[in-house]
Amino acid sequence: MRAAVIEELGQPLVVQEVPEPTCPPDGAIVRVMANGICRTDWALWSGNFWAGGPRVAAPFVLGHEFAGVVEEVGSEVRRWRAGDRVTFPMNPGDGDCGMCRAGHQHVCEHGGTLVPGVSYWGAFAEYVVVRFADVNMVALPESLSFVSAASLGCRYIAAFHGIVDQARVRPGEWVAVYGAGGGMGLAAVQIAAAAGANVIAVDIAVDKVAAAGRLGAVHTTTAAAPEAAAEIVELTGAVPTCR
Ligand SMILES: [Zn+2]
Ligand SMILES: [Zn+2]
Repeated sequence: MRAAVIEELGQPLVVQEVPEPTCPPDGAIVRVMANGICRTDWALWSGNFWAGGPRVAAPFVLGHEFAGVVEEVGSEVRRWRAGDRVTFPMNPGDGDCGMCRAGHQHVCEHGGTLVPGVSYWGAFAEYVVVRFADVNMVALPESLSFVSAASLGCRYIAAFHGIVDQARVRPGEWVAVYGAGGGMGLAAVQIAAAAGANVIAVDIAVDKVAAAGRLGAVHTTTAAAPEAAAEIVELTGAVPTCR
Protein backbone atom coordinates (compact mmCIF):
# COMPACT_ATOMS: atom_id res chain seq x y z
CA MET A 1 0.00 0.00 0.00
CA ARG A 2 1.01 3.63 -0.27
CA ALA A 3 1.82 5.70 2.82
CA ALA A 4 3.27 9.14 3.56
CA VAL A 5 6.36 8.18 5.52
CA ILE A 6 8.61 10.18 7.83
CA GLU A 7 12.03 9.09 6.63
CA GLU A 8 13.74 11.71 8.78
CA LEU A 9 12.21 13.86 11.52
CA GLY A 10 11.54 17.42 10.38
CA GLN A 11 11.88 16.59 6.68
CA PRO A 12 9.10 16.36 4.06
CA LEU A 13 7.06 13.15 4.12
CA VAL A 14 7.77 10.71 1.30
CA VAL A 15 4.91 8.82 -0.37
CA GLN A 16 6.12 5.27 -0.92
CA GLU A 17 5.05 1.64 -0.96
CA VAL A 18 5.05 -0.03 2.46
CA PRO A 19 3.80 -3.46 3.63
CA GLU A 20 0.08 -3.71 4.35
CA PRO A 21 -0.77 -4.16 8.04
CA THR A 22 -1.99 -7.49 9.36
CA CYS A 23 -5.15 -7.67 11.47
CA PRO A 24 -4.77 -8.63 15.15
CA PRO A 25 -7.49 -10.87 16.65
CA ASP A 26 -8.93 -7.96 18.71
CA GLY A 27 -8.58 -5.39 15.94
CA ALA A 28 -9.79 -4.11 12.61
CA ILE A 29 -8.17 -2.85 9.47
CA VAL A 30 -9.74 0.36 8.20
CA ARG A 31 -9.42 1.58 4.62
CA VAL A 32 -8.65 5.28 5.17
CA MET A 33 -10.93 7.66 3.28
CA ALA A 34 -9.96 10.91 5.04
CA ASN A 35 -7.48 11.96 7.69
CA GLY A 36 -7.11 15.22 9.61
CA ILE A 37 -3.83 16.94 10.35
CA CYS A 38 -3.22 17.85 13.98
CA ARG A 39 -0.81 19.89 16.03
CA THR A 40 0.18 16.52 17.49
CA ASP A 41 1.34 15.46 14.03
CA TRP A 42 3.53 18.53 13.81
CA ALA A 43 4.93 17.92 17.29
CA LEU A 44 5.79 14.30 16.51
CA TRP A 45 7.17 15.09 13.05
CA SER A 46 9.36 17.92 14.32
CA GLY A 47 10.43 16.14 17.51
CA ASN A 48 9.08 19.06 19.55
CA PHE A 49 6.47 17.42 21.73
CA TRP A 50 6.23 18.67 25.31
CA ALA A 51 8.80 17.33 27.77
CA GLY A 52 7.91 13.74 28.57
CA GLY A 53 5.46 13.56 25.68
CA PRO A 54 5.46 10.88 23.03
CA ARG A 55 8.19 10.62 20.42
CA VAL A 56 8.45 8.65 17.23
CA ALA A 57 11.46 7.19 15.48
CA ALA A 58 11.84 7.25 11.70
CA PRO A 59 10.69 5.58 9.61
CA PHE A 60 7.17 6.34 10.84
CA VAL A 61 3.66 6.98 9.51
CA LEU A 62 1.55 9.61 11.29
CA GLY A 63 -2.24 9.95 11.29
CA HIS A 64 -4.67 9.52 14.20
CA GLU A 65 -7.72 11.53 12.97
CA PHE A 66 -9.30 9.32 10.37
CA ALA A 67 -12.53 8.02 8.97
CA GLY A 68 -12.97 5.15 6.58
CA VAL A 69 -14.43 1.76 5.81
CA VAL A 70 -13.77 -1.44 7.70
CA GLU A 71 -11.77 -3.74 5.45
CA GLU A 72 -11.23 -6.70 7.78
CA VAL A 73 -11.90 -7.63 11.40
CA GLY A 74 -10.09 -10.01 13.77
CA SER A 75 -11.56 -13.24 15.09
CA GLU A 76 -12.48 -11.70 18.49
CA VAL A 77 -14.35 -8.70 17.06
CA ARG A 78 -18.14 -8.80 17.42
CA ARG A 79 -19.45 -5.29 16.67
CA TRP A 80 -18.04 -4.64 13.21
CA ARG A 81 -17.85 -6.21 9.82
CA ALA A 82 -16.29 -5.35 6.48
CA GLY A 83 -17.99 -2.41 4.79
CA ASP A 84 -18.98 -0.50 7.94
CA ARG A 85 -18.32 3.25 7.82
CA VAL A 86 -16.42 4.28 10.97
CA THR A 87 -14.31 6.89 12.68
CA PHE A 88 -11.80 6.48 15.47
CA PRO A 89 -11.86 8.38 18.81
CA MET A 90 -8.18 9.07 19.28
CA ASN A 91 -7.90 8.18 22.98
CA PRO A 92 -8.44 4.44 22.70
CA GLY A 93 -8.65 1.87 25.47
CA ASP A 94 -8.43 -1.87 25.88
CA GLY A 95 -11.93 -1.93 27.36
CA ASP A 96 -10.75 -4.13 30.21
CA CYS A 97 -8.59 -2.24 32.74
CA GLY A 98 -9.88 -0.47 35.86
CA MET A 99 -10.16 2.88 34.10
CA CYS A 100 -11.99 1.45 31.10
CA ARG A 101 -14.39 -0.48 33.30
CA ALA A 102 -15.12 2.70 35.27
CA GLY A 103 -16.11 4.49 32.08
CA HIS A 104 -12.86 6.42 31.68
CA GLN A 105 -11.61 4.71 28.55
CA HIS A 106 -9.83 7.87 27.41
CA VAL A 107 -7.33 7.39 30.25
CA CYS A 108 -6.96 3.63 29.81
CA GLU A 109 -3.98 2.23 31.69
CA HIS A 110 -2.70 0.80 28.40
CA GLY A 111 -3.94 3.57 26.10
CA GLY A 112 -0.47 4.91 25.42
CA THR A 113 0.34 1.86 23.32
CA LEU A 114 -2.88 1.87 21.30
CA VAL A 115 -2.89 5.11 19.28
CA PRO A 116 -2.26 4.71 15.54
CA GLY A 117 -0.02 7.47 14.27
CA VAL A 118 1.49 7.93 17.74
CA SER A 119 2.17 4.49 19.27
CA TYR A 120 2.43 2.66 15.95
CA TRP A 121 2.08 3.43 12.23
CA GLY A 122 -1.03 5.48 11.53
CA ALA A 123 -3.48 6.57 8.90
CA PHE A 124 -1.42 8.70 6.50
CA ALA A 125 -1.76 5.52 4.49
CA GLU A 126 -4.28 3.45 2.58
CA TYR A 127 -4.92 1.14 5.55
CA VAL A 128 -4.57 1.44 9.32
CA VAL A 129 -5.02 -0.97 12.24
CA VAL A 130 -7.37 -0.18 15.14
CA ARG A 131 -6.69 -2.27 18.24
CA PHE A 132 -9.58 -3.49 20.44
CA ALA A 133 -11.94 -2.48 17.67
CA ASP A 134 -15.13 -3.33 19.57
CA VAL A 135 -14.54 -0.40 21.94
CA ASN A 136 -12.53 1.99 19.77
CA MET A 137 -14.61 2.82 16.71
CA VAL A 138 -17.82 4.78 16.15
CA ALA A 139 -20.27 4.10 13.33
CA LEU A 140 -20.86 6.92 10.87
CA PRO A 141 -24.27 7.72 9.42
CA GLU A 142 -24.48 7.89 5.63
CA SER A 143 -25.26 11.62 5.93
CA LEU A 144 -21.83 12.39 7.36
CA SER A 145 -18.95 12.63 4.88
CA PHE A 146 -15.61 11.01 5.59
CA VAL A 147 -13.90 14.42 5.45
CA SER A 148 -16.23 15.88 8.10
CA ALA A 149 -15.99 12.75 10.23
CA ALA A 150 -12.18 12.77 10.18
CA SER A 151 -12.20 15.95 12.27
CA LEU A 152 -14.41 14.50 15.01
CA GLY A 153 -12.23 11.89 16.67
CA CYS A 154 -9.56 14.22 18.08
CA ARG A 155 -10.46 17.87 18.74
CA TYR A 156 -14.25 17.56 18.74
CA ILE A 157 -14.45 14.50 20.94
CA ALA A 158 -12.04 16.05 23.46
CA ALA A 159 -13.96 19.35 23.50
CA PHE A 160 -17.27 17.47 23.80
CA HIS A 161 -15.97 15.55 26.81
CA GLY A 162 -14.92 18.79 28.50
CA ILE A 163 -18.04 20.82 27.73
CA VAL A 164 -20.76 18.17 27.97
CA ASP A 165 -19.47 15.34 30.19
CA GLN A 166 -17.25 17.22 32.62
CA ALA A 167 -18.57 20.79 32.79
CA ARG A 168 -22.18 19.68 32.11
CA VAL A 169 -22.95 22.97 30.45
CA ARG A 170 -26.62 23.95 30.47
CA PRO A 171 -28.59 26.32 28.24
CA GLY A 172 -28.22 29.92 29.34
CA GLU A 173 -24.95 29.44 31.20
CA TRP A 174 -21.86 31.48 30.36
CA VAL A 175 -18.84 29.60 29.04
CA ALA A 176 -15.51 31.31 28.48
CA VAL A 177 -13.20 29.49 26.08
CA TYR A 178 -9.56 30.53 26.34
CA GLY A 179 -7.46 29.88 23.25
CA ALA A 180 -10.73 29.90 21.33
CA GLY A 181 -9.04 30.31 17.96
CA GLY A 182 -7.27 26.95 17.87
CA GLY A 183 -8.76 23.71 16.61
CA MET A 184 -9.75 22.52 20.07
CA GLY A 185 -10.97 26.00 21.04
CA LEU A 186 -13.18 26.43 18.00
CA ALA A 187 -14.66 22.98 18.62
CA ALA A 188 -15.39 23.96 22.24
CA VAL A 189 -17.06 27.18 21.07
CA GLN A 190 -19.30 25.30 18.64
CA ILE A 191 -20.25 22.58 21.13
CA ALA A 192 -20.95 24.99 24.00
CA ALA A 193 -23.06 27.16 21.70
CA ALA A 194 -24.95 24.06 20.52
CA ALA A 195 -25.57 23.19 24.19
CA GLY A 196 -27.30 26.57 24.54
CA ALA A 197 -24.57 28.41 26.42
CA ASN A 198 -23.54 32.02 25.94
CA VAL A 199 -19.97 31.63 24.79
CA ILE A 200 -17.21 34.17 25.38
CA ALA A 201 -14.27 33.51 23.08
CA VAL A 202 -10.85 34.61 24.31
CA ASP A 203 -7.84 34.59 22.02
CA ILE A 204 -5.09 37.11 21.43
CA ALA A 205 -5.25 36.60 17.63
CA VAL A 206 -7.79 38.98 16.04
CA ASP A 207 -8.57 36.81 13.00
CA LYS A 208 -8.93 33.64 15.03
CA VAL A 209 -11.25 35.14 17.62
CA ALA A 210 -13.34 36.50 14.75
CA ALA A 211 -13.77 32.94 13.51
CA ALA A 212 -15.03 31.98 16.96
CA GLY A 213 -17.60 34.76 16.65
CA ARG A 214 -18.83 33.35 13.35
CA LEU A 215 -19.14 29.90 14.95
CA GLY A 216 -21.45 30.96 17.77
CA ALA A 217 -19.61 33.00 20.42
CA VAL A 218 -21.81 35.84 21.67
CA HIS A 219 -18.80 37.88 22.76
CA THR A 220 -15.19 37.86 21.66
CA THR A 221 -12.15 39.47 23.20
CA THR A 222 -8.47 39.66 22.35
CA ALA A 223 -7.55 40.72 25.87
CA ALA A 224 -4.74 38.80 27.52
CA ALA A 225 -4.95 37.53 31.10
CA PRO A 226 -5.72 39.04 33.60
CA GLU A 227 -7.61 41.68 31.59
CA ALA A 228 -9.69 38.96 29.93
CA ALA A 229 -10.89 37.71 33.31
CA ALA A 230 -11.87 41.23 34.35
CA GLU A 231 -13.77 41.66 31.09
CA ILE A 232 -15.61 38.36 31.64
CA VAL A 233 -16.55 39.35 35.19
CA GLU A 234 -17.81 42.70 33.96
CA LEU A 235 -19.83 41.10 31.18
CA THR A 236 -21.41 38.28 33.16
CA GLY A 237 -21.56 39.61 36.70
CA ALA A 238 -19.77 36.43 37.73
CA VAL A 239 -18.04 36.29 41.07
CA PRO A 240 -14.47 35.04 40.59
CA THR A 241 -13.89 31.89 42.62
CA CYS A 242 -10.26 31.29 41.75
CA ARG A 243 -7.18 33.28 40.86
ZN1 LIG B 1 -5.25 15.14 16.69
ZN1 LIG C 1 -8.22 0.18 29.65
